[in-house]
Amino acid sequence: MDTHNQFIAGHWVSAKTGNQRSIYNPFDQKIIAHVAEGDREDARAAIRSAKYAFSQGEWSGLPATVRGKMVYELGNLIEANKEKLAELETLNTGKTYTESLWDMDDIAGIFRYYGGLADKHAGEVIDSPNPDSSSRLVREPIGVVGMICPWNYPLLQAAWKIAPALAAGCTLVIKPSELTPLSTLEWTRLAQQVGFPSGVINTVLGPGHSVGAELAENLDVDMISFTGGVETGRKIMQAASGNVKKVALELGGKNPHIIFEDGDWKTAIDFILNGVFFHAGQICSAGTRLLVAAEIHEQVVQLLEQRISRIRMGDGMDEKTQMGPLISAQQLEKVENHVQTAIKEGARLLVGGQKPEEAELARGFFYAPTLLIDCEENMHIVQQEVFGPVIHVEQFETEEEAVRKANNTIYGLSGGFWSADPGRISRVSKSLRFGTIWVNDFNVYFTQAPWGGYKQSGLGRELGPAGMEEFQEIKHIYQNYNPQPMNWFGK
Ligand code: NAD
Repeated sequence: MDTHNQFIAGHWVSAKTGNQRSIYNPFDQKIIAHVAEGDREDARAAIRSAKYAFSQGEWSGLPATVRGKMVYELGNLIEANKEKLAELETLNTGKTYTESLWDMDDIAGIFRYYGGLADKHAGEVIDSPNPDSSSRLVREPIGVVGMICPWNYPLLQAAWKIAPALAAGCTLVIKPSELTPLSTLEWTRLAQQVGFPSGVINTVLGPGHSVGAELAENLDVDMISFTGGVETGRKIMQAASGNVKKVALELGGKNPHIIFEDGDWKTAIDFILNGVFFHAGQICSAGTRLLVAAEIHEQVVQLLEQRISRIRMGDGMDEKTQMGPLISAQQLEKVENHVQTAIKEGARLLVGGQKPEEAELARGFFYAPTLLIDCEENMHIVQQEVFGPVIHVEQFETEEEAVRKANNTIYGLSGGFWSADPGRISRVSKSLRFGTIWVNDFNVYFTQAPWGGYKQSGLGRELGPAGMEEFQEIKHIYQNYNPQPMNWFGK
C-alpha cells in the first residue's frame, strides 16, 4: 500500500507529528493509500519555504516567457500521464473514469493556456494626461499564495489556481481536501520533473481546521485562494483579515435551470440529466433547481421520470457505469436529510429518494438518482445546496415569475434556460444575477472564459485572463521626462 508524504522546500517529508491518514475509495470503502496527516507546524514550514523562494526571485524574477514555457511543459506532462491521474481521481472520488479523463484533458489545457498567457499579460502602456511623461502598468506576482481545494474536482479545481499563479510568478502552498489528496500528490511529482526552483511549489496535507486555517491566518501568506463551501469561505475571510491578505473565493451554488415553453424542451431533457447526475450532482454548478413552464410541466416530468430510473450506478472504473457514489457517509446523510425534509415540506417523490437496493452497491456511499416535484421556492431544498443526485422541480406561469424565482437565492454562480425567442433570450440573460448564464445548454465551462460567482457564491474569477489577474498586483510607473518647478512654495 502506498504511503505519500508532503512536498515542502523541494523534499518529500512526513508530518512533523508522524501522523498518517487512510484514504478510501467511496465505491467500496476500501483503503487505497495512506498519507501524511500534517498540522499547523507543517503548514508553517511550507509557508516559510514559499516565502523564501519568492524573496530569492528565482521564479518571480525569471522572464515571463521562461516561466510560461515551464508551465506549458507541465501541461504536456499532465497529458502524457493522464490515464494514471484519471485512475487516481476515479478511485479517490468515485466519479466515472471517462469524467476523470475529461478533467485531465481540461487540466493539461489549462496549464498550456496559462503557459501561453504568461508573457502576454505582463503589463501595458497607458496614456498619460501630462506632456513629456509616460505611464506604464506592470503586472507583478502577488507573492505567496495559499490554496485550499475541495474534494469534488480535486485536481481540476487545483489547476484553476496553480497554473495562473505559477504563470504570474507566485510561489504557492497547496492543500488538497483531506479526503482526496492523491491526484494533487501525483501532479506534484510531475511538477518536480519539470524542475521548478525549490520552494516554488509546496504541497501540504491535513484537515481544514488546522492546515487550512493556518494558510488563511498566516501573516506571511499574501493571498488565499479557496474553493469550497460558503460556511468555510466566511471563516477564511475572517481569518485572512489579520494581514488584509487578498481573498479569492469559489463557493457553492444553487443554479436554476429554466425550461420555457417556447424552447426545445425535448432536447433539454438530456442537458437537465447531465446538469445534475454527472459526478452524482457533486458539482458547484449542478442544475438541481429545475423551473418548468406550467404548460409543459407534465410532459417534461414524464420524460425525466423514465430516463432517471434507467441511470446505471456502479464502480467508476467500470465503463458501463453512468453515475458513481457520493464522496462520504457524511455527504450521503446530508443528501438523505435534504430529501426527507423536502418531502415533509410537501414535495412529492417520483423517483429514488433512498439508497439503491443492489447488493454490489451496498458498501458504497450511493444515493439513487432522485426526482422531486411540487416544490416551492421557500422550501429548504430549493434554497440550500444539496450536492447530490437530486432534481427538484418548481412550476411557473410567466417569464417574470421564472426570473424572480431563479434570482431568489443567496447564491449566484450559474444558471441556464431554454428558449427560441430572441427577445426573451436577451431579457432573461440580462435579468439573471449569476456569474455564468447558459442559453440552450448547461454546465459548459472552458479555460478561456472566466468562472465565478455573484452574491454569496464567491469573490473574484478563475479561468481566462481574469483568472491570472487575481494573482497579480498592478504597479503604475509614471516617469516625467521634463520636470519643471511649480514654485508653489516660492522660489
Ligand atoms: P469545504 O468547505 O468543506 O472544504 C473545502 C476545503 O476547505 C477542504 O480542503 C477543507 O479541508 C478546507 N477547510 C475546511 N475548514 C476550513 C477552515 N476552517 N479553514 C481553512 N480551510 C478549511 O468544501 P467541500 O465539501 O470540500 O467542497 C464542496 C463545496 O465546494 C460545495 O459547496 C461546492 O459548491 C463548492 N465548490 C465550488 C466550486 C466553484 O467553482 N465555485 C467548485 C467546486 C466546489
